[in-house]
Amino acid sequence: MIKSPNNIGFTKRLTVLGSTGSIGKNTLDLIRQFPGDFEVVALTGNKNVKLLIKQAREFLPKLVVIADTALYEELKEGLADTDILVGSGHSSLKDAAELNSDIVMAGIVGIAGLAPTLAAIKRGGIVALANKECLVCAGQLFTDEVSTSGATLIPVDSEHNAIFQVFDFEQNSLVESLTLTASGGPFLNTSLSDMASVTPNQAKTHPNWKMGAKISIDSATMMNKGLELIEAYYLFPVEENQINIIIHPQSVIHSLVNYKDGSVLAQLGNPDMRTPISYALAWPERMETSINKLDLAKIGNLTFQAPDYEKFPAINISRSCLKGGGALPIILNAANEIAVDAFLKKRIGFLDIIKVVEEALSKTHYGNLSAIEDIYSCDKESREKTSEILSNL
Ligand code: NAD
Ligand code: MG
Repeated sequence: MIKSPNNIGFTKRLTVLGSTGSIGKNTLDLIRQFPGDFEVVALTGNKNVKLLIKQAREFLPKLVVIADTALYEELKEGLADTDILVGSGHSSLKDAAELNSDIVMAGIVGIAGLAPTLAAIKRGGIVALANKECLVCAGQLFTDEVSTSGATLIPVDSEHNAIFQVFDFEQNSLVESLTLTASGGPFLNTSLSDMASVTPNQAKTHPNWKMGAKISIDSATMMNKGLELIEAYYLFPVEENQINIIIHPQSVIHSLVNYKDGSVLAQLGNPDMRTPISYALAWPERMETSINKLDLAKIGNLTFQAPDYEKFPAINISRSCLKGGGALPIILNAANEIAVDAFLKKRIGFLDIIKVVEEALSKTHYGNLSAIEDIYSCDKESREKTSEILSNL
């Protein structure tokens, strides 16, 4: 029998932003096993209106939002015989994030997740943060808002969730460094010349993790680890030069904290996002899940190697954007989103993704970045510049 996650005596109210995606579906899959312990308050999606309707009929939230306004009528019709409120567009996404709930799962992909996630933070509850792009683009603003509102941020990204589980926040001056593990993606052992001709399907096929399309391509270019480096910088009280990256192809050790006394603490588990998601859902407790448990004897070997920075320049590009600060991480993220989309649509080759990102970084300039509006306008400008670069390719 699976143990209830909820020893606290009340039903946790949960909003899932991005419920139709990989993180969202895994979240609903977990709570499905605990009817009575979770009450779904709101669900949101972007284009997959059929799945959103199905999820709404199963979990009966108060509000369901489809980001794409063209699909509003279909959503409304699909739920016409229920009491569920429906909405669409940016302001309804924000409404969903602002509804009274105990936990908001921030599972929208890309910068589209920034405004709704910030709205959830401003409410001051628990935010389970899967969306890494909002920390990359607005790290300082985001963490300032967390301090002001008193919100609790629980990282869901597996590496950051692992660090969160073993980081001694009371003695952070005794932390020497963080080590983020990386599987190396599907092209760890592919030569650079062979990488030039890989297809979107090959690039999307991650050896260990099942994830959405964008993050899977980011794992193949290792931009994912670059974005995670920036994410770790904003989540934990460490400097940029205290964050290291190591290739660990088995994805069993999800990351490590190195202490000054020589101890190294890590979190291990099978590569299944439902473990970090369950941790965030049950926090500060833990919940039992039906996930396959780790069998180290069966795995036998855990191996490690240094990243090949020539084959995967995205890591160092990201590090220099973090060091340079200002608009650089925003341009990095925007250019990468546009370039990944172009690759998925077969408009450019795999190796062009990073070339386009580098060109966008050298050609986009942006001034003052004090408010969220500045971040959006820098993002917009970077997207336009990247599209221009793409059309000249
Ligand atoms: P996905 O593509 O599978 O799902 C994305 C979700 O966002 C969907 O519900 C989609 O409808 C919604 N969405 C997309 N564009 C939108 C828009 N413009 N407006 C509103 N909603 C929109 O992505 P995913 O793999 O679930 O990843 C979600 C986030 O979690 C990403 O930031 C990713 O980096 C992070 N993450 C994912 C995993 C994973 O295992 N999938 C692991 C670590 C971190
Ligand atoms: Mg990760």
